[in-house]
Amino acid sequence: MGLEVKILGLRYTVGRVEILKGVSAGFPEGEITCVVGPSGAGKSTLLRAVNRLIEPAAGEVYLDGSPTSGMDPLLLRRRVGMVFQLPALFGVTVEDAILYGARLAEKDADAVRLLEMVGLDPLLGRKDPQTLSVGQQQRVSIARALALEPEVLLTDEPTSALDEASRRRIEDLIRELNTRLELTIVLVSHALDQVERVADRVVLLVAGRSEGEWSKEEFFSGECGERARLFISGRL
Ligand code: ADP
Ligand code: MG
Repeated sequence: MGLEVKILGLRYTVGRVEILKGVSAGFPEGEITCVVGPSGAGKSTLLRAVNRLIEPAAGEVYLDGSPTSGMDPLLLRRRVGMVFQLPALFGVTVEDAILYGARLAEKDADAVRLLEMVGLDPLLGRKDPQTLSVGQQQRVSIARALALEPEVLLTDEPTSALDEASRRRIEDLIRELNTRLELTIVLVSHALDQVERVADRVVLLVAGRSEGEWSKEEFFSGECGERARLFISGRL
């Protein structure tokens, strides 16, 4: 089961540069929200703040209404999993790589079941992860995140290093996990064709500010405000 994420007035500064300038957004329970925006808008920074890989200067992230600032970041990251742009797998075998986080958390997990869940042959479990294709490695990193049985999965441009066919398969997997596990999923994407295939909702971030959130239908039919229309037409 997923849970609802709410972000209120999030600010993050590096030196004198304000990267997030008061971002508010919601990721509803059990839905796939795509976070879009121009390069440098702060999309990755926002996900990192939700996962507490960075500490915001102000604002709050709520999980089902509870503020996360008082939570132990390690416990928070078990409930809110993260998949990055490039898979970075640790371990001698694929099985080690999948169980990496679960072992640290002293949590039981079944690598074979997880491999099946992400559509990989369980026989791959014995292989060196570096011998897998990047698309397969990205599935392994999704399996690693799922091993902790998160309620929310954050994914930061998980397909941008993949070829078109692998990209489509990861998109299908994301939709399938959302349906099967009722996971709340956040997908940062710069590809509008992908957003159209995968999203339930869309959040637009521009220059460190949230510009609005819409259903996918509202967003793509232009019922979304001038900034979003400019972004869709590639003029932002
Ligand atoms: P996006 O993912 O939307 O492309 P990012 O969140 O990666 O954007 O970055 C937003 C802005 O913040 C960019 O201008 C980036 O250069 C800057 N930035 C991000 N992290 C740091 C950092 N640790 N130090 C300095 N600048 C950073
Ligand atoms: Mg980014």
